[in-house]
Amino acid sequence: MARVALVTGGTRGIGEAISKALKAAGYTVAANYAGNDEAASAFTSATGIKTYKWDVSDFDACAAGIAKVEAEVGPVDVLVNNAGITRDGMFHRMTKDQWYAVINTNLNSLFNMTRPVWEGMRTRKWGRVICISSINGQKGQMGQANYSAAKAGDIGFVKALAQEGARAGITVNAICPGYIATEMVKAIDPAVVEKNILPGIPVGRLGEPEEIARAVVFLASEDAGFITGSTLSINGGQYMV
Ligand code: NDP
Repeated sequence: MARVALVTGGTRGIGEAISKALKAAGYTVAANYAGNDEAASAFTSATGIKTYKWDVSDFDACAAGIAKVEAEVGPVDVLVNNAGITRDGMFHRMTKDQWYAVINTNLNSLFNMTRPVWEGMRTRKWGRVICISSINGQKGQMGQANYSAAKAGDIGFVKALAQEGARAGITVNAICPGYIATEMVKAIDPAVVEKNILPGIPVGRLGEPEEIARAVVFLASEDAGFITGSTLSINGGQYMV
């Protein structure tokens, strides 16, 4: 039987590409999203992938949402923690709301989503947890103290949990994308992209969501069983660690 993959924020941007690539690789995919019903319904019409709406920053909503997915689709074998937001601002102007929104959505969601699937993966002695962090969690980014803190936290989470899951056949890895052409990046002034961002990317272009999705498919596969606790940088050479 096909393995089940659950992708948070799986209806738009990088998550949409991940959902589609996992489906193409033979997984039964469930895609979570936050509130953009229009995008979710267009996504389902185009792909046939079932969508589930809940807020990954809410622990109880995650537990209920995952229970529904498991009842309708099957136990989650592959969890992709992809959902994320930005609420940028220089720290001297950053509000408590900006800080907590980003920490709750980008970091606390990893606990909220992974905790409910972890026991099942341990019992079945197989699992894949793949967290989409960011280059800005590796190097820090001015105007993103909240986002950089959350994304660096994702990497720490992965390294700790990889050790706990190793003997149970569960791998836990992080992917750190650089600038990828999604709505999150399209929100940046094109002149700023041209003048300030592209010159810092050795390959001279933004990445495509599919370039992240292909790495997710590999990390989810049997072939990647010896890769755990790792941080895969996919950034066109912008930051090398
Ligand atoms: P998009 O803004 O294009 O898509 C975000 C997706 O996440 C949407 O499906 C959205 O749902 C969902 N989402 C947002 N908040 C929540 C929430 N609270 N609960 C459930 N779902 C939620 O983002 P990207 O595709 O650009 O980014 C995906 C991930 O990649 C993020 O974690 C981001 O930080 C990371 N990343 C992105 C980079 C980039 O250059 N784009 C670079 C590095 C990392 P809805 O459609 O309902 O709003």
